[in-house]
Amino acid sequence: MNIILLGPPGAGKGTQAKRLEESRGLVQLSTGDMLRAEVQSGSPLGKEAKAVMEAGQLVSDELVIGIIANRIDQPDCKNGFILDGFPRTVAQAEALDAMLSDKGMQLHAVIEMEVDDAALTERITGRYTCAKCGQGYHDSFQKPATDGTCDKCGSTEFKRRADDNAETVTSRLAAYHDQTAPILPYYRDKGMLKKVDGMAEIDEVTRQIEGALG
Ligand code: AMP
Repeated sequence: MNIILLGPPGAGKGTQAKRLEESRGLVQLSTGDMLRAEVQSGSPLGKEAKAVMEAGQLVSDELVIGIIANRIDQPDCKNGFILDGFPRTVAQAEALDAMLSDKGMQLHAVIEMEVDDAALTERITGRYTCAKCGQGYHDSFQKPATDGTCDKCGSTEFKRRADDNAETVTSRLAAYHDQTAPILPYYRDKGMLKKVDGMAEIDEVTRQIEGALG
């Protein structure tokens, strides 16, 4: 099964994608994670993307489409994947369609996670992850059981994304409304769009997604 998780930054796409990886044996394909790895490694691609990401804008369609096209060719994608953060423009959605039909693959569902804008800034600016295992936490909503120690792996090192600050969040939300939200009618017209309430508790959102996937 190949699915897309769509929603604004902070909607919980990454959290739910990790759960779907475990429950359904799918692989999470996050263009944001891939781009951050490129920035970290200092590759030419990472150098090109860094300033754009720090400004909360979208990197070029050409660049992310190239990254995804390579990634989908890897053998672990054969069992199915969850796209998280891609497509983000109508051009990317069209390129994805062309790419999948070339490879004889298809999309099964597009899940829209609906969240109020007002909740997003607080969600994003308070979030952080374990530097070792990637488990997600939040300053107010999801603290580790023992302060400063990861519940999952015991690490005491945590990290925050460079773009998870109040100023950049404003640009990221604007990019979502201007460039990504127009994808919703694209998939609605194809009869593929399913909505879930991203304001609900994490477990309830998972239940709604599992229900939508059938
Ligand atoms: P994310 O982790 O999905 O919030 O993405 C972090 C940043 O990476 C975004 O604000 C963009 O600058 C860039 N990015 C990630 N995915 C895409 C995409 N599909 N198209 C363009 N830019 C992207």
